[in-house]
Amino acid sequence: MNNFDEITEVVRKNNNFLITSHINLDGDGIGSELALYFILKKLNKNPIILNQSRLPGVYNFLPGSNKVHYLEDNCIDTKSINVGIVLDCSNVERIGKTYEIFKDIKTIINIDHHKSNENFGSLNYIDCSASSVGEILYELIKSINLDLIDEKISTCLFTAILTDTGSFRYSNVSSKTFEIASYLTSKGIKPSLIANNIYNRKTYPGLKLLGEALLTLEVNESNYVSWITITRKMLNDAKANDGEIEGIIDFATTLNNVEVSILFRETKDNKIKVSFRSKGNFDVNKFAGKFEGGGHPNAAGCLCSGKLDEIKEKILSLIFSDIKYQE
Ligand code: 5GP
Ligand code: MN
Repeated sequence: MNNFDEITEVVRKNNNFLITSHINLDGDGIGSELALYFILKKLNKNPIILNQSRLPGVYNFLPGSNKVHYLEDNCIDTKSINVGIVLDCSNVERIGKTYEIFKDIKTIINIDHHKSNENFGSLNYIDCSASSVGEILYELIKSINLDLIDEKISTCLFTAILTDTGSFRYSNVSSKTFEIASYLTSKGIKPSLIANNIYNRKTYPGLKLLGEALLTLEVNESNYVSWITITRKMLNDAKANDGEIEGIIDFATTLNNVEVSILFRETKDNKIKVSFRSKGNFDVNKFAGKFEGGGHPNAAGCLCSGKLDEIKEKILSLIFSDIKYQE
């Protein structure tokens, strides 16, 4: 693995940077992209953010959210890019179709906190003890000059940390996480304002979808596994969009005694996206790996091809036997 000085050296020697993160962008992905964008600007560099997926609406309050470019806009002059920076992606497939552009960039910096990271960059900085890439970027900035962090950058980093820790509830929270959050708060941000923006601006279709999704909730006999299913029909009937699915799995996790919760959903391109959350020792990153997915021990996912019912049956029977084996 490389160190911060090696990364900073590459930043110092180059001018044009292309930043990206994973498909189904989350708060850590977008918050980290924007924080890095503002830092590079302050260092007199030319950064561009390029994503495959549109930004979920809840993140449009973030400073700079209107500066994000999308693949379909076809607006990047790739020849001028010196360095690509990939954030929060355990493997290069996670960046989706933006790979078409990143594959031609000579120098790739890979910054991530997934245990399953495949070290695909020319430079790699992976810290699995960090709650989020936001936390790693804070440390990277600290190694340059902490005074670079202003209110805008604080807002982005705080969003990354808040969302990837489930509002400071997950097992990835450490005393360092709170120290960083405290420092960011001292820069004039209002945590309650950020939390309101992210969690209290649901749309009516989004809440209707949550209601329909909860009606599909099932648990196994021992109450250890709970699961929710969201079909295209449910999304269409509620007039909700895919971004509004984020957070629904958390309701399945809140059930008393549940160890693992699962969300099965049909994607726009006829695949089945499966999300896993674990409250205890069951490692869902390892489990998702059986289906070419990954993530963290307590939050992971995979993308499957096939019929919804068949995939559900396969995954559920495997998880029931794995949990039994663990007991
Ligand atoms: P979510 O279920 O919220 O989409 O993702 C939970 C965690 O698992 C995130 O850290 C995410 O990056 C990771 N993840 C989700 N789907 C996949 C996948 O298909 N492959 C890999 N490698 N990681 C995934
Ligand atoms: Mn993350």
